[in-house]
Amino acid sequence: MKRVCAWCKKDLGTKPAMVDDGGAITHGICKSCVAKYLPALAKPLPDFLDRLGVPVLLMGSGPKVLTANRHARELLGKNLSEIEGHRSGEVIECIYSKRPGGCGEQEHCKSCAIRQTVLETYRTGKGFVKVRAYPDIQFGETEKTMSIEITTQKVKGYVLLRIDDLREKE
Ligand SMILES: [Zn+2]
Repeated sequence: MKRVCAWCKKDLGTKPAMVDDGGAITHGICKSCVAKYLPALAKPLPDFLDRLGVPVLLMGSGPKVLTANRHARELLGKNLSEIEGHRSGEVIECIYSKRPGGCGEQEHCKSCAIRQTVLETYRTGKGFVKVRAYPDIQFGETEKTMSIEITTQKVKGYVLLRIDDLREKE
């Protein structure tokens, strides 16, 4: 099957989409478009991330969420101002992010699969595919343990965090 870059339409060749070349998230966009758009944090960035077609957060150091694509905003029910510059726990309404010190500073955060996966991707450059995480999420007055799958990929100085299969834990 012929694949083209979702941004510039360049032919990506016939390599299968999910080969393990460190491109678990950006496999549908050519390397030169990734190199051009992601580090720039330029205005077409959310549009660029939209072409990935799945919910993706762009993580900067901290780790803080630098921006999110449309799919992620819809999944989380938040607009860009509620996402950009916030910590991942705040963005997903993790109950521990609401405690003094906030996301990343709680005893619980040491065993948070989302945080540890992002930090490990930062440190080693190694991406992770479909890591299951069970965040405790605040929904108004109630708390629910949710189940999500996260996939990470390091691109330049950033980590892309893809969120899949969000549902209530059984
Ligand atoms: Zn391209």
